[in-house]
Amino acid sequence: MNVLVRNAIAIVSPSGSADAPSSSSPSHPPRDLRVTNGVISQLGRDLQPAPGESVIDATDCVIYPGLVNTHHHLAQSILKAIPAGLDKPLGDWLAAVPYRYWPAIDPDIMYSAAIVGLSEQLRSGATTCCDHHYLYHGGGGQAVEEALWQAAEDLGIRLVLCRGGATTSGSHRGMRGNAVQPETLAQFVDGLERTRRRYHQGEDNAMRRLVVAPTSLIHSTTREDLQALAGYARQHALRLHSHLLEVPFDEQQARERENLSAVDYAASCDWLGSDVWFAHLVHANNEAIGRLAATGTGIAHCPTSNCRLGSGIAPVLEMAAAGMPVSLGVDGSASSENASMVQELNLAWLLHRAQGGAAATSADTLLRWASVDAARMVGLPALGEIRVGAPADIVLYALDQPRYWGLHTPEWAPILCGEPVQVRAALVNGRSVVSNGEVTGIDLPQMRARVAEASRRLLERAG
Ligand SMILES: [Zn+2]
Repeated sequence: MNVLVRNAIAIVSPSGSADAPSSSSPSHPPRDLRVTNGVISQLGRDLQPAPGESVIDATDCVIYPGLVNTHHHLAQSILKAIPAGLDKPLGDWLAAVPYRYWPAIDPDIMYSAAIVGLSEQLRSGATTCCDHHYLYHGGGGQAVEEALWQAAEDLGIRLVLCRGGATTSGSHRGMRGNAVQPETLAQFVDGLERTRRRYHQGEDNAMRRLVVAPTSLIHSTTREDLQALAGYARQHALRLHSHLLEVPFDEQQARERENLSAVDYAASCDWLGSDVWFAHLVHANNEAIGRLAATGTGIAHCPTSNCRLGSGIAPVLEMAAAGMPVSLGVDGSASSENASMVQELNLAWLLHRAQGGAAATSADTLLRWASVDAARMVGLPALGEIRVGAPADIVLYALDQPRYWGLHTPEWAPILCGEPVQVRAALVNGRSVVSNGEVTGIDLPQMRARVAEASRRLLERAG
């Protein structure tokens, strides 16, 4: 865990944080970084290795804080580009792909999917992954969840398990159409409690976190159950997460059923606050944004998935201007085949310029959303910055390929140039999770065969 990283082109941390390039002496910015017992202990130039330290050569690399992905569905990592859902909007796609296949996902298939998805996270520079995992049904799903924790353990990545699920199939076509039985509220809470006791860590730099996250705020459960789940979360200082306003159907349902806007309904269920973040919010209007901002409620912005499903473009510039916390998520790979945080950074950087002009987004803002702001949103405020005293979650992006030759702002290359990035090395708590461009926790040929077998079984079981 004692490491010296030397000779980087630049060490980049979001502006405003200690030791960020903008706050360092411009003529002598740090190029070396020392890690002691998993913590960044020194930033400087020409640092010399101490006895017992291993050395990582960062020549031709820029160093970023490990990125924090605030919304994923790892189970979908073996459901990419299923033909039946390729050109479908959200509702039809949910029924044709995730809900069509998930009853067939056993622990071994889940483990394979999680290894694929988490490897992609590490390979793109994410060191913390929030997985919105919802494969629970009346009386089942715990063994599948265990496989997810095991995969994260084997790869050394931080995992925030957003424990999804439903207590009613109500307006959810995907559940009803595929005969997925909801849990009772008691089963849902029992599952949360089991996981909280076994895995949840409360520290600012936890490796394992639990979040209370019924799958859809509008379609998965009732007002009373949402209030009970919010009460459970706050009793145990757990964060809250769900899907909201990805499509206009959420607003329609809230108005028809509750005679409230979707965001007012969330408020009436105790589901707004600085401990809550929602995925998507594509169809949040100004009134909704004002209410979300006033309560400190955050967004996991998932631009690739929103494009892929034709859902629209979330108004994140308006949200940020109103003071809402913004973060980025890759969403599941069944609706975002890339599953790369760099893809999300690059696409968000471009997309909002297309709407708002060339000064609408900056690389620095994007990095902030994907690192320190995301870390605070999910309750891990020690993460997301490169500063002395912070946990050593760092990523080395190599810029030695021809695609970077001729580039004049290498510090922003991963965001401006997008995929494919080359992560030469990555550390989580100072522990190596990517080395010489390879994810260290897996045997690639063996894993490839296992994933192929899992995919074959999945198709066979789903008929
Ligand atoms: Zn999602």
